[in-house]
Amino acid sequence: MSTPATSNTVVQELLIAPQVQAAFRLFESQADKITAEQIEISAIAAPPFGEQGRAEYFRSKLSESGLVQAEIDEAGNCLALYAGRTAAPLLVVSAHLDTVFPAETDLQLRRSGSRLLAPGISDDGCGLTALLAIARALVTNKVQVDTSILFVGTVGEEGEGNLRGVRHLFNAGKWAGKIAAFISLDGAGLEQITNGALGSRRYRVLLSGPGGHSWGDFGLANPVHALGRAISSLAAYPAPLDPRTSFNVGRVSGGSSINAIPEEASMEVDLRSISEDELVRLDAFFRRMVREAFEQENAIRRKDTPPLELSMNLIGDRPSGETPVHSHIVSLALEATRALAATPVLERASTDANVPIALGIPAITLGAGGTSGNQHTIAEWYDPRDRHLGLKRALLVILGLAKLSAGS
Ligand SMILES: [Zn+2]
Repeated sequence: MSTPATSNTVVQELLIAPQVQAAFRLFESQADKITAEQIEISAIAAPPFGEQGRAEYFRSKLSESGLVQAEIDEAGNCLALYAGRTAAPLLVVSAHLDTVFPAETDLQLRRSGSRLLAPGISDDGCGLTALLAIARALVTNKVQVDTSILFVGTVGEEGEGNLRGVRHLFNAGKWAGKIAAFISLDGAGLEQITNGALGSRRYRVLLSGPGGHSWGDFGLANPVHALGRAISSLAAYPAPLDPRTSFNVGRVSGGSSINAIPEEASMEVDLRSISEDELVRLDAFFRRMVREAFEQENAIRRKDTPPLELSMNLIGDRPSGETPVHSHIVSLALEATRALAATPVLERASTDANVPIALGIPAITLGAGGTSGNQHTIAEWYDPRDRHLGLKRALLVILGLAKLSAGS
């Protein structure tokens, strides 16, 4: 894999620029302050569809750090601007406000050696904190850039949030159509560069019928039997290894008693592929199998009894795609990672970057330094040691894209 010399040159020039060196020193000298901010942010609950409190707090912190036009948009995203010479096109640097944890989760911080333990401390307390540290480094050192940088805390990145915040940003918000590149800072790490968008579709399927006695009403359409047929067909789907494709029936429920024909049966299904074509194929197969299973059960039911009803809801839809390895943004990220003596690894995941990637806008997701584990569990931990390396890497990529203004 070769990287165009230009990205290398850009990174090398940034490394010797006095303002960049001053920003780097700030990341080191403010390490404790940055960690304290991370702890504060992570202590504010931000369950799916309940990010308002954290968004308000984050808006005030972005203002405090010296950014302008800090606001919360119609979707609930928090936005603030670092103005460059041109107002648009923009570079967006984002992190997500939401966590996977329900509102009642105990967010109390615990410590174990250098580790901080709290739900959401890394995902994405780490990214949100990085945004503040980077904003402050730009403002404090009066770094002049050509391209304006929009800092965004997004809502709805996790699970059923279905990327609604970033979708709004690109499709409907006031900056829609003006965003030229996108960097998401999500979690810890220094090596990973996520340039591939792992697409998924998620469904909730509900079958309902009259229900009755298992013996006395035998012959009524049975929603669990229909669901079983649909699951059996899906389980036999020949998902390709390349491009990698997967499916999962993650939850099933229904019925009330061993000797009652159920009134309802439901399932939640997750379909994924790195290829949009394969995802579309799997999705079509899945919907056809559900419909066939439903029709079969109705076809064999006793005459003159009510049929089953079917509702199939798409509850998640994330596009697939890839920012090319040889694009400027990926080349810069590769060079910046190497410049910090780390070995870059290209990855594929489902993040806020899925949305711009599907629109053909250069986008990547980076870890924001330090190390972490047990994400999406209440045992989540973050270790801030050497976090400054992740902040430096992010800053190099940001300034490589936004371009230091000549003479600044
Ligand atoms: Zn995340």
